[in-house]
Order: sequence, then structure tokens, then C-alpha cells
Amino acid sequence: MAKHIREKAAASRGGAAGILAAVDEILPDIEALYKDVHAHPELSMHETRTAGIAAGRLRKAGYEVTEGVGKTGVVGLLRNGDGPTVMLRADMDALPIQEATGLDYASKQQAKDEDGNTVPVGHMCGHDMHVAWLIGASILFARARNAWNGTLMVVFQPGEETAQGARAMVDDGLIERFPKPDIVLGQHVMVGAAGTMAGSAGPITSAADSLQIRLFGRGAHGSMPQASIDPVVMAASIVLRLQTIVSREVAATDAAVVTVGVLQAGTKENVIPDDAIIKLNVRTFDPGVRKHVLSAIERIVNAEAEASGAPRKPEITPLDRYPLNVNDKTASDRIAASFREHFGTERVFHTGPAPASEDFGCFATAFQVPSVFWFVGGTDPKTYAKAKKAGTINDLPVNHSPKFAPVLHPTLQTGIETLVVGALAWLGETAEK
Ligand code: ZN
Ligand code: ZN
Repeated sequence: MAKHIREKAAASRGGAAGILAAVDEILPDIEALYKDVHAHPELSMHETRTAGIAAGRLRKAGYEVTEGVGKTGVVGLLRNGDGPTVMLRADMDALPIQEATGLDYASKQQAKDEDGNTVPVGHMCGHDMHVAWLIGASILFARARNAWNGTLMVVFQPGEETAQGARAMVDDGLIERFPKPDIVLGQHVMVGAAGTMAGSAGPITSAADSLQIRLFGRGAHGSMPQASIDPVVMAASIVLRLQTIVSREVAATDAAVVTVGVLQAGTKENVIPDDAIIKLNVRTFDPGVRKHVLSAIERIVNAEAEASGAPRKPEITPLDRYPLNVNDKTASDRIAASFREHFGTERVFHTGPAPASEDFGCFATAFQVPSVFWFVGGTDPKTYAKAKKAGTINDLPVNHSPKFAPVLHPTLQTGIETLVVGALAWLGETAEK
């Protein structure tokens, strides 16, 4: 057994070295591609330019390419003899955020959002990095076909930020039209020393539920509160009481987040409005906790409305939902062993589940196969070490911050390498036989 594992590790190391030999050669081109995608971000489900770049690069490298899967999704297939099928996934969309990184390749783009408003657009979640990584890895696999066996399926998905894209690709026949992978792999750039990576078996990103709550009161002149049912006071009570769900109803050993991100009521200081809007976001790591938190929200909202004498029951509308993303234990251990072998133990970290959410899990669920998702550091290592020492890691710009700016080196190379090494844990398997 031990010998078998050693042989396997040796084979995958040989394979990785063979494939990654050309990484230095492609890196300047991948850097230029990254800067171009960064400077031309596109909103969720509108990633036509980015998808066109991915499709063009894949075609040039010899992949069978299908475009327009789930609106702007791209699927590339590289068949290389008998062996496992590995799916690698990158998301492509950007956010309606004004970039404030000051980089010379910063975005100056604007676009129309779903409501027709003109908004700034910026790659503040780093999906441009994901696109560059996957294109880089795709090119390397195509160049070194003798170092692996099987089928590589690369998927560029739209609309991750709106939880639409993975579902759209599945609904557009991804499962029926393409080979069933043995494993689905994905990765995300995050705060962390560039050159390092982190992951773990089990839940890796949280389930997320966004809700809109509309509260009904009765408007009146601000000087005559007795004639009103004040939705502002109702909303204020609800916001505070919702914070007791996590502190009073969720066990210390469980985790959950309830954040009210939108609180809207009224137009003028002396007018009591008719209604109020609350929008909130819930993160959980366990289906039982999720169910409890969601039902507690409903209970509190209804009871507070009743306590205020509201003329109508509040309207609770689900906005979007991300599933819990769980790393398969066996597959995750396999990836971790391959990473340690290739990068050395000092660059591979164990991390608990992140209270971020992803629709990545949709693919493995739809194909009914295991998946593994991990994080790749994008922070300048010196800056990160300094912040860690000073206890100020939370001050570093995180994903979705207007200042989120992964350093190019070695982040670009590391993410290409993790994809190659991760995929080879399966595709390198048969090369030894
Ligand atoms: Zn994001
Ligand atoms: Zn993201």
C-alpha cells in the first residue's frame, strides 16, 4: 500500500514537473491576459467578452469548445486517451463596484445593471484571476499530453456573484451534453500570503440565503404618531431582535451569521411612512442550523409586526440562495497530499470553512460526483506577515472591497500550478501504468 502510494506520488510529481516546465514561458502572456480581463470587467450573466477570450484561447490550444452554455458559459474538452475525467471550473463575472486600487490596469468600466441603472464595474472578487489561472493551466495540459491520460473538461461559468451561473449551465444541459467527471475542482483567490494555499475536508464555504422583508405600517404626520403604526420603529426592533438569533439560539459550537445589509424607510423627517424594507443575508454551515435560523427570522419578523399592531403580515421574499459547499473527504485528502508533495508542507495550510458562499457546489451536486474547492493566497507575503504579526489581518482589503488587488507574482503562477497539480492527482494516475 505504502509502496503503491509512493509510486503514485512519484508519478504525479514527474507529471507535474513535465507539465509545469513551460509555466515560465507562458507567464508573460497570462499576465497580459489577466490585466486585460481586469481592465474589462463584465457584470454577472453578461460576460461575453471574457467568455470570447476563454473560448478563443481554448480553441487555439486544441480543445473542443462549446460556447453559450447557460448564456455565456464556455466548456472546453481535451481528450487524451483512457483515464479519469477531471472538471476544472473558473467563474468570470465582476461586481458593480468602483475600483479604488489605483493600479495602472484598474477598471474604468461602467455598465447597465438589471434595473437599468448605470453602475461602475470592477473585478473586486478576483474572478479575473480565476479566468487567467484556468486558461494558463488549460494551455499547459494541451502542451504536455504525454504527461497525463484521461479527459480534461474546463468550465468557465457566468454569474457566480448572483448565484445564477452554475444553475444556468446545468439547466442548459451541462450534465447531458458533456462527459461526467470523476471529480470537480475549483479555487478562489483570497486574503492570504501569495504562494500559499488552504483548504480542508468537509464544509468549505457556507450556505447563504438572502431575504427581503417588507413591513407594513400606517403612515401619518410626524407630529401625530398616535394616528400611525410606525414601520420605522417596527423595523428597528426587528433588526435588534434578529441579532439574538445567533447569540441566543445557535449553540457556541455551531456557527451562523445574520447580517441586515439594507434598511429602508421614509422620505422626509416629519412623515411617518407606510412601509419599510429590510434585506438580510444568512450564512450557515449545517442544514439543521440553517433551517432553525430561517424559521427564527420568520418567527421574529411576524411577532414584531404583530406586537406593533401591523395592518398586514410582513412579506418575506427569498432573493438568492447558495448551497453549502462540501469538500469530499477522500478527494480532499488526495489533493492535500499532492499539494504538500509539490509545494512543500510550509505552503499548504488547513483552513476551516469560510463564511463566504459559492455556487460551485451546484456542479458536483448535479453530476453526483465529489468535488474539492480551495483557496489561493493573493496578498503580498511581506504585507501579510506584517499584518499577522500586528494582529491587523482584518484590515487587509478582502474580496468585494474596492481596494482588493491580488499581487500578480507569485499569485498567477501559484494558481496555475494548483490547478495542474490538483487535476494531475487524477489525470496522472494512469500515466504510471
Ligand atoms: Zn464574490
Ligand atoms: Zn468570488
